[in-house]
Amino acid sequence: MDFSTPIGALPGIGKKRCELFYSLGIRDVEELLYHFPRAYQNRGNVLSLAMTPDGTVGSFVMTVATKPQTFMLKNRKQITKFVAFDDSGKCTLVFFNQPFVKDIFHIGDEFRFYGKLSVKYGSREMSSPVYEPIVSGKKLPDLVPVYPLTEGLTQKLLKSSTELAFNTLKAEGYAFPEIFPSYVLKKYGLMPIEEALYEIHFPTDAEMVQKARMRFVFEELYAFALGLSMAKRQIKKGGNALVMDNTDLTEFLKLLPYSLTGAQSRSVSEIAADLSNGEGRPMNRLLSGDVGSGKTVCAAASLYIAVKNGAQGAFMAPTEILATQHYNELSVLFDKLGIKCALLTGSTSASEKRRICEGVAIGDINIVIGTHALLNEKLSFERLGLVITDEQHRFGVRQRSSLAEKAKKTGGSPHILVMSATPIPRTLALILYGDLDVSVLDELPPGRKTVDTFLVDESYRERLNGFIRKNATSNQVYIVCPTVEESEDSEEGLLPFDFTGEDIEEKEKTKLQSAVSLAERLQNEVFPDIPVGLIHGKMKSAEKNRVMRDFEQNKIKILVSTTVIEVGVNVPNAVLMVIENAERFGLSQLHQLRGRVGRGADKSYCILVSSSNGEKAQNRLKVMCSTNNGYKIAEADLEQRGPGDFFPNSRGDARQSGGIHFRFANLCNMDLLKKAFEEADCVLSSDITLSLPENRGAKEYMQKLFARLQNS
Ligand code: ADP
Ligand code: MG
Repeated sequence: MDFSTPIGALPGIGKKRCELFYSLGIRDVEELLYHFPRAYQNRGNVLSLAMTPDGTVGSFVMTVATKPQTFMLKNRKQITKFVAFDDSGKCTLVFFNQPFVKDIFHIGDEFRFYGKLSVKYGSREMSSPVYEPIVSGKKLPDLVPVYPLTEGLTQKLLKSSTELAFNTLKAEGYAFPEIFPSYVLKKYGLMPIEEALYEIHFPTDAEMVQKARMRFVFEELYAFALGLSMAKRQIKKGGNALVMDNTDLTEFLKLLPYSLTGAQSRSVSEIAADLSNGEGRPMNRLLSGDVGSGKTVCAAASLYIAVKNGAQGAFMAPTEILATQHYNELSVLFDKLGIKCALLTGSTSASEKRRICEGVAIGDINIVIGTHALLNEKLSFERLGLVITDEQHRFGVRQRSSLAEKAKKTGGSPHILVMSATPIPRTLALILYGDLDVSVLDELPPGRKTVDTFLVDESYRERLNGFIRKNATSNQVYIVCPTVEESEDSEEGLLPFDFTGEDIEEKEKTKLQSAVSLAERLQNEVFPDIPVGLIHGKMKSAEKNRVMRDFEQNKIKILVSTTVIEVGVNVPNAVLMVIENAERFGLSQLHQLRGRVGRGADKSYCILVSSSNGEKAQNRLKVMCSTNNGYKIAEADLEQRGPGDFFPNSRGDARQSGGIHFRFANLCNMDLLKKAFEEADCVLSSDITLSLPENRGAKEYMQKLFARLQNS
């Protein structure tokens, strides 16, 4: 037997049980041993019958006092009963439909029972407790693992299978594959693999379990770091990307109504240097910039260079609204330069789609802007040289590479630029985008004013309505609600929020504003004289586009919406952002929403409405009032809630893939993460392909980890 022995080869696991193990993701011995307990019962803490109150779950060591008797109940259930005692008192033990227990419990024998003690009118009873015989010379384990199960599999079976596998391996003298070189084990005081697996499944005590867990956390982070660092080193090595050495932007810049900021110029130069590098190494760059820092024009400049050098460009945005907006903005500009753009989204008509696909295939269309529709197989390029994805954190690694694959078909790896408006703390950027170079737009275009932000509760409703009226009369207003319809508990676009118990409780307490009913109420009762619009994710694309256009053209004055407007929407005349149930949103998300205003010449405001009294929520919202700097907010968010917000959501739409779901580790532990990266770097610098015998285990583990991360 070894780690790769199929689970079905274990004695006692037939075809049917095999299926059950598969459904837990256990296919071989390794996966069985890496199926860790979700908790441990502390059976070592033996309680005394007399001192223990009703309803307590725990261990009792008792001696059997009477012969078990089985009775038939009216409902045809069999009940077997007997009495047992400890130093302090006695207790009736009851088992249903298990008449065979009478052969187990003999008078005078001692057992450890684990379960719930019920005490009624002075008499004690335990119903169907777990029992273990006390045998002299053999200590019962204090901590007993509780495994995650699936229907049809029992704790007992998992326990016995794990024990069997472990003991067989040990008896056969199997060398458990160790992914760490021994000096790393020593340096961080990590438990060697065999001992760690033993402690996880058959723990000596809580401290040892902790130590074992720590090893597996580090193991996973280390493999993760190895994978990312390897990718980065390989990318650096060169390739067959198109060398775009004509990077003169004079014509392009002349057409802009403004001059680039310092940060934009610097970033565009960095991009141009990547595109024109002589070795044909494809660009792999992240352009990170706070909302409104002007990433789009940098993308446009890059696309311009690509086209000038005879290549095509693809520009992918996560939503139709955003893709359309990019198209509207860029096509005007590129028209003047004789560059042909096309827009391809889910709602592009079939005939138009065909026309675009043809145009792209023969190179007649230079730039395609669109949504996921760009990933469609039918779209093939004549010569795709540059792929840009906007709001990268919304896309998974898989989608990123899928567009790149298209380019490879036409020869050569494309240059890749990803843009993110989520200001990511440096530590995390390193991890999430470990394989990318980074340009940062840390300067806003001139004349931007900070958006004054206030936190209010329901008692301000009247005044708030007055303020909305004032701003809707002079300019335009957004109002964002957490849900689309009344009494919904899941809401579109919200990033994972149930990080801590407190947040979940708050969720239940506060009543949520829904976009549909708020829009109705505002239009009918509060602002009958002002055009109110409504937009949310459940509407058809065409309808959303129409509403968005009406808002852009100032036909709608107040736009009630859900977070569909979170990403990238640009309507400079909007000056007030009201966010209902603000406690429901993550900081980074609030910052994104606030970024929809303050885009024009007029003073802008953001009002966070929240009646939540939760201290955590209040503190979070106060951060919003105190700064407009996305990077500071991101740091605070990371500190307060962990890195959940920086990862794509696990539910629905484009956000699902690319989320990082570790088995043991999480990314909160920055310290450990940094160490993992340091060690990985160190190992790779002497063995870049991980082919030394001592690193082969790590390589295999890393490959498996990434296969899993990409599929989740
Ligand atoms: P984001 O980085 O959030 O994607 P955008 O690219 O949408 O930002 O730019 C926000 C606004 O700033 C747009 O209206 C754009 O025209 C404007 N803008 C971009 N760069 C400059 C600049 N250098 N000077 C003035 N305005 C600019
Ligand atoms: Mg943008």
